[in-house]
Amino acid sequence: MAGEPQDDCLFCKIVAGQIPATIVRETETTVAFRDINPQAPTHVLVIPKAHYRDAAALAAGAPEVAADVLRETQAVAEEEKLDSYRTVFNTGAGAGQTVWHTHAHVLGGRGLEWPPG
Ligand code: IMP
Repeated sequence: MAGEPQDDCLFCKIVAGQIPATIVRETETTVAFRDINPQAPTHVLVIPKAHYRDAAALAAGAPEVAADVLRETQAVAEEEKLDSYRTVFNTGAGAGQTVWHTHAHVLGGRGLEWPPG
């Protein structure tokens, strides 16, 4: 069922504490942790605790939690003292999504070019 934990989901396992992660923030509905393969000096993932496969599914199924995720991206940027940063939701394999549990990348601490690759 939408929002329920999935046995085969890496990020559900991080939420459950079954896989270690460097957690930087946690709220009732979200967790933020450092990306294992950072692409910038700050690279944090903000995820909903509930399982939705991508940002669109989260927005449709739990819009209040989608708002929580966005609020947390800003909170991470503030904690990491980022003046400028980029928030990215890769949606679909063609856009580079590899983990099928909604996550916002928060990237900062270096100059970021546009357009991205
Ligand atoms: P995507 O490619 O947009 O789906 O992003 C998935 C991200 O998850 C990638 O940037 C990975 O480096 C990151 N990642 C994969 N496994 C782990 C983990 O166990 N801990 C933290 N980050 C992870």
